[in-house]
Amino acid sequence: MRTLGKKYTKSKLKKFQKQIVEKMGSVSEEVDTLREGIGSATNKQGGVTPDAIYSLHMADAGTDSHEQEKNFMLMNRGSDYFKSLEIALERIREGSFGICKICLDLIPEERMMAVPSATKCVDCKEKEKLGLA
Ligand SMILES: [Zn+2]
Repeated sequence: MRTLGKKYTKSKLKKFQKQIVEKMGSVSEEVDTLREGIGSATNKQGGVTPDAIYSLHMADAGTDSHEQEKNFMLMNRGSDYFKSLEIALERIREGSFGICKICLDLIPEERMMAVPSATKCVDCKEKEKLGLA
């Protein structure tokens, strides 16, 4: 039976929040490490933007440029992930966390643990992919 307007309980949300905050901590550490690695491989200039680092690095085809490129990609992916976690926290605050925005049903806990920024349940996501939603 589907009840519309379901929500995760406050204690569940707290659990999610804790997990997300922990994840953010490790992701930002990872991103910082990558950023430091990229920064030290280029000239030590204060306030170099990621874009500048990227073009600097692209311009000089050093021996470890491939490695740098990979790190840069990982760093970007990390900060994107970090942003998605921030959005998930925001959703916890406004009370829309874990609720499918299409069918308004609760998104299973396992899915929210794996993808905290998910806004649709698997069913709706699949339907959308098939163009049925
Ligand atoms: Zn749904």
